[in-house]
Amino acid sequence: MHLLVHLRCLSLFAAAQKMLRGTLSLLWQSLGSFSCWLSGALFLLPRRRSFQDGRARDAAAGVVPVSVNYHFTRQCNYKCGFCFHTAKNSFVLPLREAKRGLAMLKEAGMEKINFSGGEPFLQERGDFVGKLVQFCKQELKLPSVSIVSNGSMIKERWFKRYGEYLDILAVSCDSFDEEVNVLIGRGQGKKNHIENLHKLRKWCRDYAVAFKLNSVINRFNVEEDMNEQIKALNPVRWKVFQCLLIEGENTGEDALREAEKFLISDEEFEHFLDRHREISCLVPESNQKMRDSYLILDEYMRFLNCTNGRKEPSKSILDVGVENAISFSGFDEKMFLKRGGKYVWTKADMALECYKKV
Ligand code: SF4
Repeated sequence: MHLLVHLRCLSLFAAAQKMLRGTLSLLWQSLGSFSCWLSGALFLLPRRRSFQDGRARDAAAGVVPVSVNYHFTRQCNYKCGFCFHTAKNSFVLPLREAKRGLAMLKEAGMEKINFSGGEPFLQERGDFVGKLVQFCKQELKLPSVSIVSNGSMIKERWFKRYGEYLDILAVSCDSFDEEVNVLIGRGQGKKNHIENLHKLRKWCRDYAVAFKLNSVINRFNVEEDMNEQIKALNPVRWKVFQCLLIEGENTGEDALREAEKFLISDEEFEHFLDRHREISCLVPESNQKMRDSYLILDEYMRFLNCTNGRKEPSKSILDVGVENAISFSGFDEKMFLKRGGKYVWTKADMALECYKKV
């Protein structure tokens, strides 16, 4: 009997030992996998972040800056309510430094430069931008040199002096109704924005500069029918943008504008485009297309990365070189091509009326 009890005790003890061993090994295994997971997670966390940063950097690394927009001034004489490059400072690079940067960009593969602002014709009454235009065409021999302006300060003497070096002049016009222009912030007191537009159109024809129009579609002009006026002006290209919010510029605490009231939906934008479908030179740019598809240089020649909905600057190309700075630009080359960023941009290649006459 004792023997039986003893044997039973032994087998129970062995079973308990086995169970304990099993539990311990399970516990050990789980501890093992937990520690693996923990070390893996700790190892991967910074790596993952750096991988993501790296991916953002790599997307633009090695990109050739074929087409660059240089916003050399933030100052402007207009106060458009949706402006997304506002007058946050009055800095402008000295002419010599600006030329040095432009030469570096040419060296890196730039073919097209667009001068923008602010209002480019405010600085030295247009002479500053005139000298840059002349330098880019005459010295750098860039295939395409263009300016985006609100058009209010351009005089005929500017065309006489610098017109031959300019391929394209793009003038902003959001409405053919002067009252709407005033509502938007493009009002100019006694000056009439639309009359001025026709004058500029004529000078472009007279001095063989391609004439382009830019319009931002917003709450105040979204219902407008611009067909007749656009046909009469006959631009080589009509860029139609959907009003866009940029944190720190036209929305948010440190912004100089509150553009929320100007916003329109994607459907409203589509309706506007549909109303103007007969205009063959219309190039639409929805918010989606606009983001990340422009190489933008600010007044310090820093690339502005808009991928996070605000403009985050790289270091200046003048300090770190084009290749280094461009890798922080957030530029998406595929998006640039998708929005038709590459087009016939040399005036000699365009079928300008003035050329046809010759
Ligand atoms: S004209 Fe252009 S730069 Fe000037 S306030 Fe209007 S949108 Fe801004």
